[in-house]
Amino acid sequence: MPITVVGSIAYDTVKTPFGERERMLGGAAVHFALAASFFDDVRVVGPVGEDFGEEQLEVLRRRGVDVSDVERVAGGKTFFWRGEYGWDLNSRETLDTQLGVFEGFQPKLSERSSSSDVLFLANIQPDLQQEVRRQMSHARFVALDSMNLWIDIARDSLVSAIESVDCVILNDAELRQLTGKPNLVAAAREILSWSAPGPREPGQARGPSVIVAKQGEYGAALVTREGFFALPAYPLETVIDPTGAGDTFAGGLVGYIAAHQSQLGADGDGSGQEVLSEDLLRRAMAHATVLASFNVEEFGTERMERLTGREIVARIQELHAMTQFSGAALQLRG
Ligand code: AMP
Repeated sequence: MPITVVGSIAYDTVKTPFGERERMLGGAAVHFALAASFFDDVRVVGPVGEDFGEEQLEVLRRRGVDVSDVERVAGGKTFFWRGEYGWDLNSRETLDTQLGVFEGFQPKLSERSSSSDVLFLANIQPDLQQEVRRQMSHARFVALDSMNLWIDIARDSLVSAIESVDCVILNDAELRQLTGKPNLVAAAREILSWSAPGPREPGQARGPSVIVAKQGEYGAALVTREGFFALPAYPLETVIDPTGAGDTFAGGLVGYIAAHQSQLGADGDGSGQEVLSEDLLRRAMAHATVLASFNVEEFGTERMERLTGREIVARIQELHAMTQFSGAALQLRG
């Protein structure tokens, strides 16, 4: 099923203990699209400024991503982000954010983009996320990402946005901050209890049923009403730049789900909401984990631009082998 992603298309200036890059291609929608493009058709919606180069769009086009809804704003400047990482690559400092063309951005989805069955609302102002969700009310699977900034300054709008999606993908600290629950599982269960108020039309989302907690180099956890699953990050000896790991993870997860639409089926409660099997979600988590592991091996999109399907499959097999153990019963004392 085709996927539409709405989010930032950016120039990033990044410094890590291993080097620095000025104004490289970045943005949540870009990282997401590159990862998801390994699974299905991807359409990117977002604004860029006059300063945005054709060669940057070419990076997406080369992976077959549809960029016809990337809006070039005359006289505008592309979203700019500058961040720095210390030795602990799990924590970073944002040194500069220039919204540029994102200020006053009104998402306009073409018929083609709005006809996608799957939607990813990357980290943008939650009012905009809700607006896009309204324009794609028929979507069969909708996932959302956000950040601490919106929890701080637009929590009510973010909660409304969350109530309108199927899947929430956040950092574990953000899940705790959003819910005020100190425990990850309790925080996820709290969000699972949120649902859109009022009568529900057939097909209308009834609130999230899948919560994914990203835990940086420690991996990611999946919480649904039915169960819990977790994977470590793929163990890498060298991590160069974690920027975009979260969006790449989301691209792997949502892309895998979109590509396996035959396993999406309406549930039995008459709401028309799609249900995802635990098995499908676990495999999607594995693909997300592996995609993110490639992204962090080099700066920006450098590694993802060269990545091949074969490399992904090989790493999936390794991750599978290293996370298996036998269920043989052990005789315990006591
Ligand atoms: P991640 O490392 O997955 O959290 O994503 C980092 C990417 O998000 C970078 O490429 C930035 O350009 C982009 N980004 C950073 N801050 C924001 C923001 N406030 N809104 C939208 N995108 C952002």
